[in-house]
Amino acid sequence: EPREVVLEVTDLVVNYGRIQALHGVSLQVRRGELVTLLGANGAGKTTTMRALSGLLPPAGGTIAFEGRDITHVKAHQRVRLGMIQAPEGRGVFPGMTVQENLDMGCYARTFESKAAYRETLDWVYELFPRLAERRTQIGGTMSGGEQQMLAIGRSLMARPRLLLLDEPSMGLAPMVIQQIFRIISRINAEGTTILLVEQNAQQALTRTDRAYILETGEVTATGTGRDLLADPAVKAAYLGVG
Ligand code: ATP
Repeated sequence: EPREVVLEVTDLVVNYGRIQALHGVSLQVRRGELVTLLGANGAGKTTTMRALSGLLPPAGGTIAFEGRDITHVKAHQRVRLGMIQAPEGRGVFPGMTVQENLDMGCYARTFESKAAYRETLDWVYELFPRLAERRTQIGGTMSGGEQQMLAIGRSLMARPRLLLLDEPSMGLAPMVIQQIFRIISRINAEGTTILLVEQNAQQALTRTDRAYILETGEVTATGTGRDLLADPAVKAAYLGVG
């Protein structure tokens, strides 16, 4: 029996002035899934994420979260509902320590007890041993990959019901990208529902349950990660072969 739909985006339209950036995007994420929205530069990935977070008002279409229409719900209220977008790696607080950055992630959530807070913190440090080793290091002095880990760790402190990740591999070396994707898979395997926006087709499609391909503001293909990896058109366009 199919799992409950967590996120349902229907015919989403977003404009920048007279430029239409999204021409009716529809997608779905079910409880427990890792879903990827794959697209080249300018396809509309960031625009989609910003609309989902509530930072850009849609000109058309609807967004529903856990059965509730949130199309016109404000960004901070979406966070309260458990839709948490990880900031880009460069979005960590550069003057704060690792520990302080993680604590900032708790703003979206009231912990029922000190023990619940500790448990979440221990979980994040276990996922990212590198952060545990560096809890007193200043965020801004960490490497790009470490800052990306910190950005993801910070959003996990809110225990998201849906985690939105916007190009976590951006600007990172191949080894670090692999490491980040391995951790994303693990976060998902441990029960967090994830919508990932990516350009890195190989890594994303290998690890994802389902994916949508976004081209100039439209979804042009959808399927399992495995099927899309084997699709000749996808290979030619995103994997540099074919
Ligand atoms: P990238 O991977 O390069 O960040 P993207 O898939 O995230 O690309 P978007 O940033 O969502 O793409 O951009 C989608 C389209 O909307 C592009 O054609 C872009 O030029 C346009 N666009 C984005 N932001 C604005 C803006 N503030 N004003 C006008 N057009 C914009």
